[in-house]
Amino acid sequence: MTEKKLANSQLGSLDYDPAPESASIARLKPSYGLFINGEFTDPSRHEQFVTLNPATEETLATVAQASAVDVDAAVSAARKAYETVWSKTTGAERSKYLFRIARLIQERSRELAVVETLDNGKPIRESRDIDIPLAAAHFFYYAGWADKLDHAGFGANPQPIGVAGQIIPWNFPLLMAAWKLAPALAAGNTCVLKPAETTPLSALILAEILQQAELPAGVVNIVTGDGSTGAALVDHRGVDKIAFTGSTDVGRLIQQRVAVSQKRLTLELGGKGANIVFEDAPIDEMIEGIIDGIFFNQGHVCCAGSRLLVQESVADEVLRRLVRRVEQLRLGDPMDKNTDVGAINSAQQLARIEELTEFGESEGATRYTSSCELPEKGYWFAPTVFANVSQSHRIAREEIFGPVLSVLTFRTPEEAVAKANNTNYGLACGVWSEKGSRTLWVAERLSAGVIWANTYNRFDPTSPFGGVRESGFGREGGRHGLEAYLNV
Ligand code: ADP
Repeated sequence: MTEKKLANSQLGSLDYDPAPESASIARLKPSYGLFINGEFTDPSRHEQFVTLNPATEETLATVAQASAVDVDAAVSAARKAYETVWSKTTGAERSKYLFRIARLIQERSRELAVVETLDNGKPIRESRDIDIPLAAAHFFYYAGWADKLDHAGFGANPQPIGVAGQIIPWNFPLLMAAWKLAPALAAGNTCVLKPAETTPLSALILAEILQQAELPAGVVNIVTGDGSTGAALVDHRGVDKIAFTGSTDVGRLIQQRVAVSQKRLTLELGGKGANIVFEDAPIDEMIEGIIDGIFFNQGHVCCAGSRLLVQESVADEVLRRLVRRVEQLRLGDPMDKNTDVGAINSAQQLARIEELTEFGESEGATRYTSSCELPEKGYWFAPTVFANVSQSHRIAREEIFGPVLSVLTFRTPEEAVAKANNTNYGLACGVWSEKGSRTLWVAERLSAGVIWANTYNRFDPTSPFGGVRESGFGREGGRHGLEAYLNV
């Protein structure tokens, strides 16, 4: 019996009728300009690019490509707004704007969820239940801090830095915009935000929300474009701080560029998170945690649990159950409310996932790939688990940023820690065990910014997030997240 038949025979029939959300809720415009000084404007060179739906390869809208001249206009607007308005606005007033933005995100949450899913390819269930509510929660959380900065632990009357240049990736477009904007504004900075080129749309809807909230002109500016737009922002002399989330390669480049300036810098980069499973862990919860750790958002998650370290005594059982669970994941139309695994965000990312998984096979790991059907159009990759992975394999060392799990085994807690730390990265890890003392023993020895116990991929605006080593530096979220935007 195939794994799929086996899974279905044990769970009864799992046929679902389609339950698609309506794309018309997005109300997308055919084209979008740049958001500078409170207005949508045409780019100076009139250059544009298209943003696609990765599930269908259809064009969603045309978006402006900002040049260095446009970036300069955005930075000037941010500087003027900083000096004339925002630095003179009281914390209580800033808080009022942040609360408004949070409430407007909630009001337009269905539209934002649809836009996010169309532009990114992630399942609507995730954008509806995770991305958009968390984005609103970040604005609510930092709204609460804006008038309490004296009590944030950074001394009396901490001052903002000035103009922040913020560059974000495509995996959680609106959420990353919220992570960057909310603490910056609460602390009294003005911003120039650069969304990723494959997912600019939710940030542009956010620009409309900022207008609705009557945020003073120039306090937030949004410049769409590719890496050259990001580079112009990084190099601009009028920017006081750069906050970047993205690949380690680009992060390294930015750090070099910023090194010759006075700019402050925070980097949130890649990861190769280890999910460590001990033999006493509750198996059903743990299987769900492993699945969520790697297949949430198609594995396009910097803190994904992309390495499973499983204690040898339970390795066969865990692998068997994991492979069966992978067969049950529903891959397909991201707009369908029953979909678990959506589309890969771009052809480029798909090519990278394919390349690395081919290495996995050629280096001798054992591959299990879901037998699910892949839609004909769009960018898709079936959920995949590699067993018999050794630490030297590329799939154990490099960030794949896709729905691919590498399984390694260990015998003792010491070996688990050594293997988990055997990476250049250090963003997140998970530990699964019934025994609290063992979890704490392991957690204390892991080199990672975030460690989850008996859960994975749990995010909350009150909790700081960030990495060590090649995963970057600086924290976002929580009280710690304010520090990145205060002159302390
Ligand atoms: P990914 O590999 O996940 O696409 P990138 O690091 O390439 O991540 O992209 C993250 C963000 O950085 C995007 O908004 C992208 O446009 C921007 N970016 C890419 N290259 C540069 C660069 N040289 N300088 C500044 N920003 C850049």
